[in-house]
Amino acid sequence: MTCCHDNQGPTLAWFEDMIPHCLEHAQAAKSQGRPIVGILCEYAPRELIMAAGGVPVCLCGGDLEMIGPAETELPANLCPLIKSTYGYHVQKANPFLEMADLLVGETTCDGKKKMYELLARTREMVVLELPQKPDDRDAFTHWYAELAKFRDGLERRFSVRITDEALRDAVRKMNRERKLRRDLALLMAHEAPPLTGRQLLDCKSIISCIDADLEVYASLLRELEHRSHEPNRKRVRVLLSGVPTVHGAERVVDLIEECGGLVVCMENCTGIKPIWEDVDEEAEDLMKALALKYMSIPCSVMTPNDGRIDLLSEMAGIFKPHCIVDLSWQACLTYDVESWRIRQWAEEVGNIPYLRISTDYAPSDSARLRVRLEALFETARSHRQESHAAHSA
Ligand code: SF4
Ligand code: SF4
Repeated sequence: MTCCHDNQGPTLAWFEDMIPHCLEHAQAAKSQGRPIVGILCEYAPRELIMAAGGVPVCLCGGDLEMIGPAETELPANLCPLIKSTYGYHVQKANPFLEMADLLVGETTCDGKKKMYELLARTREMVVLELPQKPDDRDAFTHWYAELAKFRDGLERRFSVRITDEALRDAVRKMNRERKLRRDLALLMAHEAPPLTGRQLLDCKSIISCIDADLEVYASLLRELEHRSHEPNRKRVRVLLSGVPTVHGAERVVDLIEECGGLVVCMENCTGIKPIWEDVDEEAEDLMKALALKYMSIPCSVMTPNDGRIDLLSEMAGIFKPHCIVDLSWQACLTYDVESWRIRQWAEEVGNIPYLRISTDYAPSDSARLRVRLEALFETARSHRQESHAAHSA
């Protein structure tokens, strides 16, 4: 491995213009008559939309400025992700939302579900019913039926036929993207990773499978796979779990890294969670393979959500974190309540120092969060020294 002194290569810079690239792509697709389909959660099966000729665009809001406008219709005591997404709707400020022909949501948390009802007053919307007891025998049957209904609905709405061939092609494309992004994420397992967590977080796109993005992911991998960035060796390795940190809402990742941490793994929906598993592209029943993949996403809306503990255990084994930061957006009840279980797992099973952060998009608590993060990193450092001493004794 060679040391990388300037790890801000031209390929990384590509993603600085991620939004303009996506806009250009969406406008070109729209002018060719392809539908734009807004998605609001990682349970949305992008492959079906792509196989219908559509362009799935993630509409999750990360902008603090959109929260005020949202609060004219939504209660203030609601998760900032929901409010920011809705604020864009109120202000008509998200060009992707404005050009969308259809929105797709799922019955995940209560706040999202009820916000969808308000969106549906003026926007065309379908809501897939996501079963929330994943271990129940009939849960999968129901989800499978929901996806079949969604497939039929897309065919009718856009006057197309979704052939198995088109679906298999979309599955292959999504699998390729998931693998490239997974391989990039795995670079962080190195003792001196070539990227920071924030750099890795920025390597993503709100529209999946844009050809140019796939090429940049592949070039980045070639560029970085044998590189290390020595200063990263000394930083405290952090496993970040919990809620997604969508575009514009990266403040906690930045704070962690400004305080001497390095986010080596993001076990959340803007990290590993949706890309860790592929769809079986050789499956005879592709709809079943799709349903299986999406239903296995371990979101806190599921009960019980043992999959999150399994994923965290796997991530801890691969990325060797020195501590865990469990992030919850204010008023996100499901992640908030689940934090007790994550703390127990971290301390009893993984023996890893743990910090729970509950915050929103406003920077007013940044100074307080810095103090708490610095204290966590101090604990993680002494924890490491003690375990080194115990090993060498
Ligand atoms: S955290 Fe849950 S509700 Fe949010 S995007 Fe992920 S799967 Fe969807
Ligand atoms: S962070 Fe929590 S409350 Fe917000 S949208 Fe996701 S699951 Fe719902």
